[in-house]
Amino acid sequence: MSKRDYYEVLGVDRSTDQKEIKKAYRRLAQKYHPDRNPDDDGAAAKFREVSEAYEVLSDQEKRAAYDQFGHAGVDGQAGGFGAGGFGAGAGGFSDIFGDVFGDIFGAGGRGRGPNSAARGADLRYNLEIELEEAVAGTSVDIRIPRLAECGHCHGDGAEPGTKKRSCPTCNGMGQVRMQQGFFAVQQTCPSCHGRGEVVETPCVQCHGEGRVRETRTLSVKIPAGVDSGDRIRLNGEGEGGVNGGPSGDLYVQIAIKPHPIFERDGRDLYCEVPINFVDATLGGELEVPTLEGRVKLKIPPETQTGKQFRLRGKGVKPVRGGVPGDLMCKVVLETPVNLNESQKELLRAFQESLDGTGTKHSPRKSGWFDGVKKFFEDMRP
Ligand SMILES: [Zn+2]
Ligand SMILES: [Zn+2]
Repeated sequence: MSKRDYYEVLGVDRSTDQKEIKKAYRRLAQKYHPDRNPDDDGAAAKFREVSEAYEVLSDQEKRAAYDQFGHAGVDGQAGGFGAGGFGAGAGGFSDIFGDVFGDIFGAGGRGRGPNSAARGADLRYNLEIELEEAVAGTSVDIRIPRLAECGHCHGDGAEPGTKKRSCPTCNGMGQVRMQQGFFAVQQTCPSCHGRGEVVETPCVQCHGEGRVRETRTLSVKIPAGVDSGDRIRLNGEGEGGVNGGPSGDLYVQIAIKPHPIFERDGRDLYCEVPINFVDATLGGELEVPTLEGRVKLKIPPETQTGKQFRLRGKGVKPVRGGVPGDLMCKVVLETPVNLNESQKELLRAFQESLDGTGTKHSPRKSGWFDGVKKFFEDMRP
């Protein structure tokens, strides 16, 4: 089934700004949210559709790619969370939930009461590595800006030793009721952010936020064999929780840079090796590159251009185990350049020595001529 246009899914037009896109998404996601539509597969599908559209259109880079190339520009990215991965438990929407739904359902679940703990948001870090690093495994230091629990008030928001009072907006309930169409929506109180209490004297370090911005340097171990699209989860390295809730997780999303020699397809590697026509004709030994260094490859006589040779086990050992893949070397015949006069003379003499019809030594050419002849005969009325 072909996908609907993301703008159409959200009911906005192409020039809509981020604020309006977010608004449209909230409205639709609330309408189709599985909690409001239990056992309704149609609503669940709609919910996934709007979430996917939002994930793309809310991200400037992805939106630009989508505007230029359509679905082809972003496929494999939207909802790419959950593809591959290392036993990640979180669902595909957790990262945007933290952003958009944080104040509706609470980051840690629905129906959050006053002072209840909430899990911190998950973070995502895009990491580009070289093919060699991906194949051998490596360790990379990354710098992560995040919200961490304030050490001074331990996430409380109040200056230690001072009192709090009951929130006047929600009378200490932490939630207020809002009428939205047919629904009366319970919303987290905007004054106390669901805590039910307001701080009299905010913490001097975090100004009552309970969390502080910090940049941490983390050493991430990249296991051997990872591929583009894989992600590594670092437990508890996301944003700090609220009211003593657990921290979210950090997902390191792997992308592998293009390599000058090798192309990778899963566990197999592909490369092209130039070969001169004498070696191709007489057979010989070629030096070909592998990730572990050069190896010799025997080329049989009468090798044609484009012929692919398989070097077993010289590919990539997959990260989830199993045997290494193969290296496929495609030989490409090269026309000699910069010949001097005597070398050209040798070639002319060689040409004259060939069988007159020119087909005995050229298996492809003879077949080609037959094809051309038939083509013109078929054209005749
Ligand atoms: Zn503090
Ligand atoms: Zn309140």
